[in-house]
Amino acid sequence: MDYSKPVFAGNWKMNQGPTAANAFLDVFLAAHSPRTDRTVILFPPALTLAAVRSRLAERADIQVGVQNVHGEEKGAFTGESSALIAADAGAAFVLVGHSERRHVFGETDVESAKKCAKVVEHGMTPVLCVGEKIEQREDGGTEQVVLHQLRTGLSMLDHDAVRRVIVAYEPVWAIGTGRTATPDDAAAVHRVIRAALVELVGDGAQDIPILYGGSVTAANASALLAADEVDGLLVGGASLDPMSWAAICAA
Ligand code: PGA
Repeated sequence: MDYSKPVFAGNWKMNQGPTAANAFLDVFLAAHSPRTDRTVILFPPALTLAAVRSRLAERADIQVGVQNVHGEEKGAFTGESSALIAADAGAAFVLVGHSERRHVFGETDVESAKKCAKVVEHGMTPVLCVGEKIEQREDGGTEQVVLHQLRTGLSMLDHDAVRRVIVAYEPVWAIGTGRTATPDDAAAVHRVIRAALVELVGDGAQDIPILYGGSVTAANASALLAADEVDGLLVGGASLDPMSWAAICAA
């Protein structure tokens, strides 16, 4: 993967089974011609991954990933899938520590760290998501929360592995709320994340993509992407409509 290109990642969350995914791709693939100047990644539900992959066989320009893995490799964890299984199923990327995993399912920073380690061990790229809740922002705690999630989440990786991750800053108050961070708000936190990455791994930290996520739409995508240290976008709701996703991927 060429980390100098902007990254457009679509997180479908618990939406679009194989049938809906095929209908989505009918429209999206016609609207979005292959481009070498950007990286496009789709994160369908795990049960939809095979359908999306087979549909993308002729479109090597579009990558696929899963939205979560379990931190253990295998065993008696009914209902879960591991990084081993995700890699075998063809995922190249894994979202780790998405705010819904943290705040709906109680995932801790340490669990995120274990997941990042397993994802790297199996040759995939973790997209480590960090972000503060509204009360943490209002209390002036944004930096502390984000840095704690970031440093702990990356703590089980060696420096070379850290240089190959993607980070996504997603303020919890902006996710699915229609309330987007301004480009300046996003840039301020992205700079803090960049400085922490430089402190952690030195050379190469400049190349780690830092994506912004939270109520990104076709209307605000270009302005957010133009903000300082914003290297791409992680998009939920607006990635479910093929035409709006195509417009975002053209930003
Ligand atoms: P949203 O979700 O674009 O619907 O706000 C973003 C995300 O959760 O990754």
